[in-house]
Formats: sequence, C-alpha cells, structure tokens
Amino acid sequence: MALNLEHLKERPHLVILGAGATIATIPQGDRNGRKSSLMDNFINELGLNELLNDVIFNTNSNNLENIYSELYDREDCQSIRLLLETKIGEYFDLLQLPDHPTIYDLLIISLRKKDAIATFNWDPLLLQAYNRVRKITDDLPELLFLHGCIHAGICERDNRFGHIKAHCPVCGRLFQKVPLLYPVKHKDYTSNIFIRDQWQIVKNYLQQSLILTIFGYGAPKTDEGALQLLHQGYGSDLRYLDQVEIIDIKDHDQLYDTWNYFFDKSHGHLKIHDSFFDSLIAEFPRRSVEGYFKRNIEGWWGESSFSLKTNYQTFLQLRNDIQLLLRNESKGNFEVI
Ligand SMILES: [Zn+2]
Repeated sequence: MALNLEHLKERPHLVILGAGATIATIPQGDRNGRKSSLMDNFINELGLNELLNDVIFNTNSNNLENIYSELYDREDCQSIRLLLETKIGEYFDLLQLPDHPTIYDLLIISLRKKDAIATFNWDPLLLQAYNRVRKITDDLPELLFLHGCIHAGICERDNRFGHIKAHCPVCGRLFQKVPLLYPVKHKDYTSNIFIRDQWQIVKNYLQQSLILTIFGYGAPKTDEGALQLLHQGYGSDLRYLDQVEIIDIKDHDQLYDTWNYFFDKSHGHLKIHDSFFDSLIAEFPRRSVEGYFKRNIEGWWGESSFSLKTNYQTFLQLRNDIQLLLRNESKGNFEVI
C-alpha cells in the first residue's frame, strides 16, 4: 500500500541567518558604503580603537565576541562595555539597504506565511527588506530575532512586539527597545519575554520544518547555548524525509563538523552550497517545500522552470517575474512551475 505523504507539502521551511547572510546581502557595503557586521574587525570599522586603547586586554583577538566577552567579565571595564553597546546600537541603526533588490529581499519573497526566517543578526536590514517586498505580496514568512534586533520594539506590559517606531496595539504607547543579546558565553535566553517568545516559536518551526536552511551562521563559541537550543528544537528522532541546507563559503570539512548533529538527524540529507542562488529557495521560489517534495519524494526528473535571477536591478523586474506564481496562489494553486 502506498503511503500518503501529501501532507508533507504543508510543512514549513525554516531559514536561520547569521552574519554571513548580511554580508552576502550587502557585499559592497550598505546604501552609504557602511560595511556590515562581520564580527572580526568590527571594532576597527566602528572606529572604536581609540576607546579601547586604554584597556590592556588578555585576549589579543580583534573579534568582537572575544573583546566583548572580556569587557563583560571585567569589573574595571563596565563603563567601556556600556559605551561599546551604545556604539554598536548607533552603528546598526544607520545601516540601510541599497535600492536594488538584495538577497534579503529575494529570500523573503521566496518564502510564504507557513515558513519562517530566524536571524541571529541585530541589524535592521531584514526588516527593511520585509517592508519593501510586502508591497508585492503580504503572504510572507514570519520573522524571528533570536538575539534581538535593533529595530524591534516591545510592550512588556501587554506582551506585544513590533517595529520600534510603532505603537503597542493594546495600550497605544510607543514600543520600548528590545535588549540585544550580546556575545558572551552564557547568554540569557529566558529572562526577556521577547527573546523567550522568539525561541519558543523557532523551536516549533525546527520541529515542523521539512527543510531547514542555515545561511551564513558560523555558530561561534560564544553561541554554544544557542546551538544546544537548536539541537533540542530539531529533536533527537531520525528525520528520514527531511532536508538540511547550509549556505556558507567556509571550508566544507569545517561545516560538516559544525553541523554534524543535523547531518545525523536528517540521515545524511545535508547539502552545502556556496551561494544562496544554489539553494532550494532560489531554485524553487515560493515553492521550496513543493519542489523538494516533487523531486525527492515523488521522484520527479524535471527542473524548475522559474528560478530567481542573480541580477535584479529593480523591484518591478522582480514583481514581473514572480507574478505568475502569485496569480496561481490566488487560485489555490501551489504547483511547481
Ligand atoms: Zn502596551
């Protein structure tokens, strides 16, 4: 008797983003040439060398994680740490996407409401992209901020979240800033209700997703706790039918090492891509789960007749390309084309 696996097509696609995804999104810097947030050299790019010259560090690394961790642990450095936090906030606050559609725009428009994007990045670029592609369709994935976001706001009293410039829909007051989770070894994922909530939701997506894509996230040493939570969320059962995709430019051996838990649990269904444009997301925009299902579970030999291009200059071009898919969706048709 043939097993009915149709219901698998309804499962979500979860994408997890790290600093590498923001770098791929603005490889030449942002609209004003500001560089994104790679943790190495960040202090230099923030112009913070002078500030930190007075501190004699035990670490000789110029990586923000190592520097911040040390400042955090040292009683004599608390005022400098707070100043560093302010500077980080000011820097990210100003980052702006360039005018043309970027990888973040393409990523968001390639997923649907049942899907989710969870990011470890603080920068506001993903939110900016969301607001741009929402003009094309509002059937878009849920966004989750696992370490907070510079433009995310919260009303703690009413437990509502939204853009920092919006008002709480219950009490009408302006949202307050969500505290960012800074790079220290023992991060607190439970005290703040925003962060706790985001992790609760991402755990559900980890359990449910047919495809998990991890894009530009290096799981640094200071994120040990996050990695454990991701493992727990994915669960300890073997997931024979599920797929894991890693989009990263690092050495493959290193990547297999970092993500071996997911390799094992997905029964070896783990693929590494150097580029976003090689992923299932770009190959089957808005149909990644359907495309994967058709090819790997139904045994289809065909290819997607519509994949994302690498060089959209305008949102009009993107809208025109995606139009047919949206028209089909409005008739309840989610077939791969
Ligand atoms: Zn409120």
